[in-house]
Amino acid sequence: MRLLILGGTGEARDLAARLVEAGVDVTSSLAGRVARPRLPAGKVRIGGFGGVEGLRGALDQFDAVVDATHPFARGMSANAVVACAQTGHPLLRLERPGWPADPSWAYVDTHDQAAELAAELGERPFITVGRQELARFVPALAGHAALARVVDRPELDLPEPWTLLTSRGPYDLDGELALMREHRSDVLITKDSGGSYTWPKMEAAAELGLAVVVVRRPSGPGEVTTVNDVDDAVSWVLRSAGARTEDPTS
Ligand code: NAP
Repeated sequence: MRLLILGGTGEARDLAARLVEAGVDVTSSLAGRVARPRLPAGKVRIGGFGGVEGLRGALDQFDAVVDATHPFARGMSANAVVACAQTGHPLLRLERPGWPADPSWAYVDTHDQAAELAAELGERPFITVGRQELARFVPALAGHAALARVVDRPELDLPEPWTLLTSRGPYDLDGELALMREHRSDVLITKDSGGSYTWPKMEAAAELGLAVVVVRRPSGPGEVTTVNDVDDAVSWVLRSAGARTEDPTS
């Protein structure tokens, strides 16, 4: 069983580690957005495939695909659905659930709306949406004393009152409390990433009474078998591998 994992998340790394240990031939694919990515166990390839057509060609080397990309990486997920439908490759979506809604959070549909709302809610926003979306916060928040936390330094010039913090999670509650206190943050902006890796910032915001603006997930890529945790993804892969072994024509 040669498995392709579309990765770039903690779950994708966990899955790769579990399956390599179980003897599966795993290749993880990363987009190449981060300068020094945490590399998963097994084989790794880095960079886009070149759309649906490129992915379809790459699938020749694999028997099944798990799309474990981030819930906001919808372009890659959509390409995987189309390419796998065309080639007949089994596809599983591994997607962590969003955070349970908190009535005190304000939900918005887009990053532009998040920026506008945060500008109204506070003076010292803490922006944690990632480097790729940062430019969308500049127009509304250029005059605010924002703290922007990203893994890699963005290419754009940031407004003078902003502070850039490059760091990589997972984070803990004490660290998040200290950071928000140090910067006197009054509004937290986040995607509904879900999971535990970045949850401590939500706890810290609640403890310190920050307003919280959450960008809703974009809608999914349509009909695809989906599981929410790594255990279920491991079972799906091992079942698929077993089915292949039993079917000598596969
Ligand atoms: P995206 O908008 O869905 O994808 C844009 C293009 O990037 C895709 O069409 C594909 O290029 C390439 N790509 C994306 N993920 C890839 C992967 N795992 N392997 C190979 N190529 C990939 O994706 P994105 O939101 O920029 O996210 C990029 C990566 O960062 C993903 O792997 C995701 O899991 C990770 N990530 C994203 C976020 C986020 O908030 N978006 C947060 C944490 C981690 P081609 O069309 O050329 O194949």
